[in-house]
Amino acid sequence: MDYPGNLFVVSAPSGTGKSSLVKALLELDSRLQVSVSHTTRKPRGQEQHGREYWFVSKDEFNAMVEHGDFFEHAEVHGNCYGTSRKAIEERIQHGEDVVLEIDWQGALQIKQIFPTAILIFILPPSYEELLQRLNRRGEDPQDVIDLRMANARIEVAQAQHFDFVVVNALFESALFDLKAIVHAQRLKYAAQRRNKSVVFRALDLV
Ligand code: 5GP
Repeated sequence: MDYPGNLFVVSAPSGTGKSSLVKALLELDSRLQVSVSHTTRKPRGQEQHGREYWFVSKDEFNAMVEHGDFFEHAEVHGNCYGTSRKAIEERIQHGEDVVLEIDWQGALQIKQIFPTAILIFILPPSYEELLQRLNRRGEDPQDVIDLRMANARIEVAQAQHFDFVVVNALFESALFDLKAIVHAQRLKYAAQRRNKSVVFRALDLV
């Protein structure tokens, strides 16, 4: 599939700061859109249906899987998560840049279906810092934190399969790195040929 829009896929262990980074990136870049996933997990804190996630029951989720509604889906920390096909395919075909904030299993599925997707892995500076961040967030019970820490080691080991790695030690610096990745993608020949068509024509470039 050679669509005009870019598909950025951002993965990281829970607590790395991925959601805050992606939120800040979206605020700075009006050409980027985030895709809202479906999940069987219960809402946390101030989360709202249709904003952070579409919160659905297990039965609703399974029905969507059977209908082939998901581009990718995976079980993460005991809950199901999925990206609906409708949410992204149309947008990318229309030349919009879409960001997916999904786990590594989903990211690798996306790369299979959509080889031009840009996979970005965000690493925490250390496991100690990750634990502190999960505790500071204060949104999860201890057993959930324990599970997320155990899974973090498995997740971090997947970074090698990603196109880019950003270490979130300092928020501003990690945000700068993310912006640079998005910007570089838009400077690729095919993208520039579309966006700077007047220049390209004037220079007799095809
Ligand atoms: P949380 O419950 O903390 O919001 O998310 C847990 C994990 O599920 C995170 O790594 C998050 O990126 C991932 N996730 C969220 N939406 C999706 C999705 O649509 N597909 C997949 N594969 N993972 C997702």
